Amino acid sequence: MKAIRGATTLNSDTPDEVRSKVKELLTTIVSVNNLKADDIICIMLSSTADIKSLYPAKAAREAGFSHCALYSSLEPDIDGSLEKCVRVMLLTETSGSVRYVYLHGAKTLRKDISEVINIALDGPAGSGKSTVSKLVAKELDILSLDTGAMYRAVALKCINSGIDYAEKNQVDHIINNIDLRVEYKNGRQVTLLDGEDVSEKIRTAQVSMLASYVSAYPSVRAKMVDLQRKIASRVSCILDGRDIGTNVLPDCPFKFFLTATPEIRAMRRYAEDKLKGTAQSYEQTLKELNDRDKQDKNRAVAPLKCAKDAIVIDTSEMTAEEVARNICEKIQEKI
Ligand code: C5P
Repeated sequence: MKAIRGATTLNSDTPDEVRSKVKELLTTIVSVNNLKADDIICIMLSSTADIKSLYPAKAAREAGFSHCALYSSLEPDIDGSLEKCVRVMLLTETSGSVRYVYLHGAKTLRKDISEVINIALDGPAGSGKSTVSKLVAKELDILSLDTGAMYRAVALKCINSGIDYAEKNQVDHIINNIDLRVEYKNGRQVTLLDGEDVSEKIRTAQVSMLASYVSAYPSVRAKMVDLQRKIASRVSCILDGRDIGTNVLPDCPFKFFLTATPEIRAMRRYAEDKLKGTAQSYEQTLKELNDRDKQDKNRAVAPLKCAKDAIVIDTSEMTAEEVARNICEKIQEKI
């Protein structure tokens, strides 16, 4: 059994306002936690003494929450406490982690969880971004968005379409008609190209090089950056890429830039590919990684660059767990 907390404030003390805000609070808790009606055991509500027009529990029943036990109570009138506030504790059968919901003026009660938090994690290939990003996301219970996967999907689309990718017009045509979506299944990112899950297919050496090539086109960057900003504005997430701190989210309060020597990065990539059975020689891996870095650093639009206000972490001598812990500590210090 899990307890989900939440709260909201009202603009005025009228029955309609109580109905509307209680309904909004409960339906938001249900949707962000993916709850089914049968999962809810009981809903306990409390209201500040300045709400006199309707019991929040009655508003909950009227909003359709009639299948579980409902209860409301009055909070003591304490000087300086938030005005016209309804708080909730919802008990549910659900397993796994739960999300608390604080709306309107009640957001000030839990600044740590009610605002969308974005973290920018940039760095060259093999610096450990994607592994670290997943670990940080798990620790902070937020999503991890691998933006490289999106550029890779564009590259795969170009390969499948048989276009000449040196021709700007042909790449523009692809990008104007691409159906690219990012979804999450059990917390894992799934990259969908024209409805197909291409999460594995985009991990080849050919796709890596072409992703780096096509990502230099302004039309490709504009579309991907727009998609990334939309996702980041809706959900708390850590975005790993090349230009997150400098271009996608320049105002992001948490920016990190990972580095490591080319030899160590190539060795990591080589070991990963070996496990997958797709390894080329170490020398070839190092060469491709250096070529890709050069291409990414020297393109005219949004090149790979460390943001001035990013914290730089040299991961050469660190495990992914150590890097993730370091990042989480720095974030907690700032929150
Ligand atoms: O991170 P990953 O190696 O999957 O990225 C593939 C390529 O996509 C990179 O080499 C880079 O050219 C491009 N990319 C980018 N901007 C990002 C993420 C990736 O240009 N934010």
